[in-house]
Amino acid sequence: MSEKMKGKNTKAIHSGQHPDPIFGAVMTPIYQTSTFAFKSAEDGAKIFKGEKSGYIYTRLGNPTTVALEECVTELEDGYKSLATSTGMAAVTTVYLSLLSSGDHMISTDAVYGPSRVVMEKDLSRFGIESSYVDTSDLENIEKAIKPNTKMVYIETPANPTLKLTDIEGCAKICNDKGIKLVVDNTFASPILQNPLKMGADIVIHSMTKYLNGHSDVVAGIIVTKNEDDYKKIKHMLTYLGGTIDPHQAWLVLRGVKSLGLRVERACKNAMKVAEFLESHPKVERVFYPGLESFPQYDLAKKQMKDFGSMISFIVKGGLEAGRKLMNSVQLATLAVSLGGIETLIQHPASMTHSSVPKEEREASGISDGLVRISIGCEDVEDLISDLENALSKI
Ligand SMILES: *Cc1c(COP(=O)(O)O)cnc(C)c1O
Repeated sequence: MSEKMKGKNTKAIHSGQHPDPIFGAVMTPIYQTSTFAFKSAEDGAKIFKGEKSGYIYTRLGNPTTVALEECVTELEDGYKSLATSTGMAAVTTVYLSLLSSGDHMISTDAVYGPSRVVMEKDLSRFGIESSYVDTSDLENIEKAIKPNTKMVYIETPANPTLKLTDIEGCAKICNDKGIKLVVDNTFASPILQNPLKMGADIVIHSMTKYLNGHSDVVAGIIVTKNEDDYKKIKHMLTYLGGTIDPHQAWLVLRGVKSLGLRVERACKNAMKVAEFLESHPKVERVFYPGLESFPQYDLAKKQMKDFGSMISFIVKGGLEAGRKLMNSVQLATLAVSLGGIETLIQHPASMTHSSVPKEEREASGISDGLVRISIGCEDVEDLISDLENALSKI
């Protein structure tokens, strides 16, 4: 059946899921168990040797987790996936699986903060070197490549400036040189962008965001394209122990069923909110890949199916105005994170990016007046009137 399931919504609802063979439960059961009974000593020995398929122990694999992994693999058109306890467990497991002492990696400069901290502060202790460049210009990547470069790590759209990186162009550079291209696809979701089809080797998601979509779980996933990478990453994940719990996997699996609907609705809402903000006199600038004023509008049209539901905008009046707006919204919730069914708003300069020195922050486009909003699935008229009211208080 899977070959016939071409559409993203069909895949999100059905992939990896089969009625339970014992009672016929339509929904995948939560196999809340740490260990699995063997039918006999001989059977157990065969499963351990890999001569027979079967489950052993949940850190090594669990049927609920596998259902979720198969579903996301199909959504990303990958080979196999590994679900993890958080998005950061996915990020660090990929680093540790594919990099060794003496290697060098290049990353998007506006990469998710903690992903950068691990490279700069921790992997550096083990002799792994990293460079940070503006990957929206492919020339910067080419210039940063060294003989020991083993990985290019990109995030597109990037946080919170929504700057894009040309995945196909990047893959051309990396594939030729045997460098692994890893894409953190969290901001786009598998509905809007499939990096493996554009030449990337590995895709990472924080499933905490769009895939789960209800702001009630933390989880991550790594999608691979070939058996070799899959085996290396599975080994590392199994031994580092960042495995997802079956109950957590089940919650995400339930969330994924509505991924297509949620993303479609949120994108529609975001386009209208972005247009509203762009026309507002108290707004200096709006960053949304779907606006013609967005510097990489053409690239967004080429590599994404829609423009996403993340918007950043600069309010006139800097930090004070940003604060006033945050304190005046009533429907949008003042919180970090994104990709949930509800609208969340935050102020990077005083929140997510407050630890970055002001100069560095401004150089990467995060000015004091920049506000980031993750548009949810509410009625768009209500979202616009909430923002209109809050802007009038500035
Ligand atoms: C949230 C996030 C992560 C980390 O995910 P957690 O589930 O919080 O560990 C990684 N990358 C991006 C782009 C994110 O937004």
